[in-house]
Amino acid sequence: MTVRSVIRVVEDLRADRRTDPDAVNLSSDTQTRPTGGMRQAIAQAVVGDEQTRSDPTTLALEERVADLLGHEAAVFLPSGTMCNEIAVRLHVGHAGDEVLAEASSHLINAEAGGPAVLSGAVLTPVQGERGVFTGDRLASMIRPPGNRYAPVTRLVCVEQTANAGGGRVWPLDVMRQVVEVARERGIATHLDGARLLNASVADGVDPRTYASLFDTAWIDFSKGLGAPVGAVLAGSASLIEQAWRYKQMWGGALRQSGMLAAAALYALDHHVERLAVDHANARALAEGLAGIDGIDIDPSHVQTNIVYFEVDDAPGFEAGLAAHGVLVGAKGPRRVRAVTHLDITADDIATAIAAAEAVMGERR
Ligand SMILES: *Cc1c(COP(=O)(O)O)cnc(C)c1O
Repeated sequence: MTVRSVIRVVEDLRADRRTDPDAVNLSSDTQTRPTGGMRQAIAQAVVGDEQTRSDPTTLALEERVADLLGHEAAVFLPSGTMCNEIAVRLHVGHAGDEVLAEASSHLINAEAGGPAVLSGAVLTPVQGERGVFTGDRLASMIRPPGNRYAPVTRLVCVEQTANAGGGRVWPLDVMRQVVEVARERGIATHLDGARLLNASVADGVDPRTYASLFDTAWIDFSKGLGAPVGAVLAGSASLIEQAWRYKQMWGGALRQSGMLAAAALYALDHHVERLAVDHANARALAEGLAGIDGIDIDPSHVQTNIVYFEVDDAPGFEAGLAAHGVLVGAKGPRRVRAVTHLDITADDIATAIAAAEAVMGERR
């Protein structure tokens, strides 16, 4: 077999397993499927045309998230990526302006270079530790004003929780220092809160306490909250008014979006407190994996629903596990990610640990 055909077999296997409803799918918390209750909420949604501000369910969601995040206004968008991209556009004045974000952030690594294309922004990575950097580090990265050679630093982005940092929660005091440093230097602040509610459930800090520190902030509904589509970006009334211009321009304006907003409202009512279950499952998975020869993991790093660990051959491990009906993601030659969510039970965790043990045994 050629390398190419082996890759094809692995890809076919992956494709099969992705659609296999019995697989233990730890590849991402985006893999949740709407529950019966959520499907009912969708079916019963009262709808209108959101572009003319006459979809009552979308308006209700926007009001609810604005309040949850401690901001004046909010706008429903199709994805978290669009929240980030619109926010960057709002804060970056001119092409050539600089945006700072942690080196492993979604904004830098997973948005197809959008800030460069859509806002003309120069993205500069800030080196953090498991996704978190300090106020001092930020201060050292901000360009001194009045230098016509350097790009003008306009915006700093913080990701709560830090996805590629292993779901690490930014401690509130570190976040406050970072925002304070930015404020002192006249730099705008943006919170990528794709998993902000995971952070709040993990450490008991109100989401508003985190999000109201920033000029703009958003949460995602299609991750651990279990909705099929959607995210909401919050900020001042004037910023959200401007955000609507880009929502329209970039094709994010919708029609009867109440069908989607109903799922998001349902998630806020039913799927927030239960994130604690995902966190307990993630911790149990980490502790189980730590006991297996050849798997390198520090379970104390697992604070929320994301588990990173290292093996000798991550793609091989991923394929081996898939053959046992357990899906994880190789994120590098040695790095593997597993994410818990609404559709993962404690039994699934036991299955995953047993499968990992079997795969490591086969490889020894
Ligand atoms: C998933 C994710 C996004 C993007 O959200 P989508 O809804 O998938 O577009 C942005 N930031 C982080 C940290 C994410 O995990």
